[in-house]
Amino acid sequence: MKKRLALFPVTTRVVTGPDGQQLSIGESDLTELAGRYGTPLYLYDASTVEAALAAYLKELAAAYPGQSGLTYAGKAFLCLAVAQWTRRHGLWLDCTGMGELAVAAAGSVPRSHILLHGVNKSAHLLEAAASQAGTIVVDNLAEVERLVYLSGQNNGQAPDLWLRFRPGQAVDTHSHVQTGQEDSKFGLSWDEAMAAAAMCRAHDLPLSGLHFHLGSQFRDPAPLVPALARTLDLAETIQMEEGWTLCPGGGLAVSYHEDTLPHPDISAYVRLVAEHVVAGCEQRNLSLPCLRLEPGRSLIARAGVSLYRIGEVKHTGTRRWLLLDGGLADNPRFALYQARYSALPVKEPFRPPSDPATLAGAYCESGDVLIEHLPMPAVEPGELVAVPVSGAYQLSMASNYNGATRPAVLWLEDGVASLIQVRETTLDLLRRDRPLPGKTRRRNSVFFFKYHGSGNDYIVVNRADWGREPRQEEIRRLCDRHFGFGADGLLVDHSEPGRRYAVRIFNPDGSEAEKSGNGLLIFSRYLWDLGHVGLNPFPIETIGGEVEARMYPGGRRAAIMMGQFSFDSRAIPVQGPQGEVIGETMTVLGEELTYGAVSLGNPHCVILREQVSAADSRRLGPLIEKDPRFPNRTNVQFMAVLDRDHIQIEIWERGAGYTLASGSSSCAAVSVANRMGLCNQAVTVHMPGGVIEVIIGDDRTATLSGSITKVWSGSISDEVFEGVITGQP
Ligand SMILES: *Cc1c(COP(=O)(O)O)cnc(C)c1O
Repeated sequence: MKKRLALFPVTTRVVTGPDGQQLSIGESDLTELAGRYGTPLYLYDASTVEAALAAYLKELAAAYPGQSGLTYAGKAFLCLAVAQWTRRHGLWLDCTGMGELAVAAAGSVPRSHILLHGVNKSAHLLEAAASQAGTIVVDNLAEVERLVYLSGQNNGQAPDLWLRFRPGQAVDTHSHVQTGQEDSKFGLSWDEAMAAAAMCRAHDLPLSGLHFHLGSQFRDPAPLVPALARTLDLAETIQMEEGWTLCPGGGLAVSYHEDTLPHPDISAYVRLVAEHVVAGCEQRNLSLPCLRLEPGRSLIARAGVSLYRIGEVKHTGTRRWLLLDGGLADNPRFALYQARYSALPVKEPFRPPSDPATLAGAYCESGDVLIEHLPMPAVEPGELVAVPVSGAYQLSMASNYNGATRPAVLWLEDGVASLIQVRETTLDLLRRDRPLPGKTRRRNSVFFFKYHGSGNDYIVVNRADWGREPRQEEIRRLCDRHFGFGADGLLVDHSEPGRRYAVRIFNPDGSEAEKSGNGLLIFSRYLWDLGHVGLNPFPIETIGGEVEARMYPGGRRAAIMMGQFSFDSRAIPVQGPQGEVIGETMTVLGEELTYGAVSLGNPHCVILREQVSAADSRRLGPLIEKDPRFPNRTNVQFMAVLDRDHIQIEIWERGAGYTLASGSSSCAAVSVANRMGLCNQAVTVHMPGGVIEVIIGDDRTATLSGSITKVWSGSISDEVFEGVITGQP
């Protein structure tokens, strides 16, 4: 039993207190932590991860004369705190998929240190990675094609590309975690790698590295030697350039059971790789690559410990069952590949063993076992059991099977236990759920998103979630800044994803707006965040007609074609003889004002001023709005031209009054200023509420572009609408 201690984190001690002997990790009292945070509970010991990291870095520095570094394979276990930890140590972070990219970004891992892996990366993912990752590892030829296409679209930074090569080499491990053999789904064959390299070169894609990964949980690194040789052959054949990177993946095993101790030697593994890379390059006259290792498990597995409480001890024909309060849902590794674990009771861990025990979980699967036939002392219900080597591929593969809520996670460092992931709650389980349409009453389940764009904020909800059109009073309540939400309007998503995108735009008073430039910018960003649109332009239907929208790389900026404008007095409409109304004058409150009129589907009157102010807008706006020469009334903009590229405006909106920012008002002002020869075709518009770019096309179209910030998302409580008198919408 004592031997099992070597499976645990390096800070594990057996301390003697008033209640006898007890396991302690990272100077923390496990009984106390389990009492406070509940079980199952996961602990990560910082000293243990750091010891493994130091072993890697020390041996790399000693054995490899070229540049070298480490990439942490995030799929072993990733959360905000772990991303921050990789950043603290200057590690690169290997991400798979949008979710892990988002965690890396949340942890402020620099873009240059983020690397994207994955087997079938969608165009949308590759596009996102183009702005979020410094390196993309290409798995197949279709991905190269997508990248070629995107490079034509993309004017941002292009990530470095590495090719994932399948060297046709098996390692000795469970077949479910072999990845480098010839019939593996991962990576490019020799011929495919050649073709990929040729495509990269033909299209100027920055091919700078080669990667392979033989598999995970191998103890014997010998198969790396032929795989390295084959990969160096490839590097020679495709003529990798000076400064290239070689990544032979990760995969070194850890010991999960005392029978397989000691843990595989990190130094010996690193030395083997380093020596063969140096010798292989010398033989082939290749320039020495930057050598990047990519461990996951061997860095973090031993740092993790899972704590369970025994609920019952059951005896059946041949077995003593210890029934735990976790299992398959937080650790599927026994079920997936018969991983063989060990464990110790937290109290009096070294009591003499009694009959072998089978530690099983709380879930409805006979395969829900954690450990079979483990020598264990006689233990009682209510006791805590600690399972070592729980740090990798457990929580990252955890599920909500049987409605299980995923455990809390603590980070133990410098004698302090910090909560880095809270336990899931049943509310989290219901978070994604929506009621059946129609007959079910709407309850606690309308999800909303809130965005800010150039001075306006909008709430976005989905029509299907709501069950019907939101009513005017409900919109007022949602937009009421004294009530908790607050917004300049509500966007109701009427899209059928993949087929058409449509939105209805409501003002804060519940009335419907035809088109709002800012609202449409925000709606575009929302579609991007949901993964519905990419970098290609897409149409959005509004009740004021269809507009074309597009996103910029990274998704933080959008552009909306606001459509054609017209200076024709009948189209606006303006009373008087037919023609353009540009540079005319009117007298209001004894002041002579120069103005131009334009229609963007609705009337605008742009007043030219030396300087603009909110006071002017409030004083003159209402009078101009109702001036008899505008039979349908008009929106009013007060405009000061700062220079040929910048104007400043104050806005009085028809029906809505003084407004801090408006996209269509910006377009109206720029179209008039441009018509009067006062500014260029691309102009930055400064408003009290924000800044927006307007581009005037030769065909009298206006395009609006601005950046959008995601502010918040969550679900709207039904209580928000209590007491709302609901008439017809
Ligand atoms: C999983 C994986 C790793 C890490 O494997 P470990 O066994 O956790 O060290 C490294 N590289 C790639 C490409 C992987 O898929």
